[in-house]
Amino acid sequence: MPELPEVETVRRGLEVRAAGRHIVGAEVRHPQVIAGRADLFEESVRGLIGRLDRKGKAIAVELLARNGEPPHYLLVRLGMTGQVTVVPRDYPLEPHTHVRLMLENGEEIRYRDVRRFGRLRYCTRGELQEVFSGLGPDAPAMTDAEFLAALAGRRTPIKSWLLNQGRLAGVGNIYADEALFAARIHPLTLAASLKPAEACRLRRAVERVLRKAIAMQGTSLRDYIDIEGRPGRFRVKLKVYQRTGEPCPRCGAKIRRLVLSGRSSHYCPRCQRRHAGSQ
Ligand SMILES: [Zn+2]
Repeated sequence: MPELPEVETVRRGLEVRAAGRHIVGAEVRHPQVIAGRADLFEESVRGLIGRLDRKGKAIAVELLARNGEPPHYLLVRLGMTGQVTVVPRDYPLEPHTHVRLMLENGEEIRYRDVRRFGRLRYCTRGELQEVFSGLGPDAPAMTDAEFLAALAGRRTPIKSWLLNQGRLAGVGNIYADEALFAARIHPLTLAASLKPAEACRLRRAVERVLRKAIAMQGTSLRDYIDIEGRPGRFRVKLKVYQRTGEPCPRCGAKIRRLVLSGRSSHYCPRCQRRHAGSQ
């Protein structure tokens, strides 16, 4: 599932390949990936591509109108298996390509999504701001003070807290496990029970893991690719995620897996000890 580093890689790719281009037409081949009415989306998603913003795992493509009207936005959420590519218009259509956005230069932006949990939405600035304001601060940009404030009083396992997009935006299962390992914190530790020093260590670990992953264009486990169709290169850097039974790179103990709210957590039982206050 794409997390912040993968989404940021897609955003940067769109900046290079699509910013400054005009969207001149659209074809929705599967309406499920459109938020709202697909026919309206097809009719209205037009304009000069301006800024490309991102908050957490959501990308906002600014669409400037010719007539001086306020810009609209194309909000892109990749869900579990969403892929965005920019290709020549006559490039063979791959299965599960659900949306085509034609550009004036003979290329097109394609949205492909096997599981169809991703969503494309055409919206106003107000609607975009509503979505963005429901998200916590972008994870790698959080300050220690913001991080501590968001943790205060949260009697939930820290792993679940890290995944809550309303608290901090952008962290998913992979980078939560990696950051907890780097900070030597057990995934079941209650968020509110972290000492300030531990919390600051975790905040720095989150930032470091995300920035390193961005620098390597994210992690490809199965579906994720960048705008040119290339996989991310961070997978080889994963220290605990999906390494159950392998030796911890720090101490050699076998990596364990536990299930929390239906999702796997991977951790080192020696480096990430449970302390009083764990669930
Ligand atoms: Zn260890």
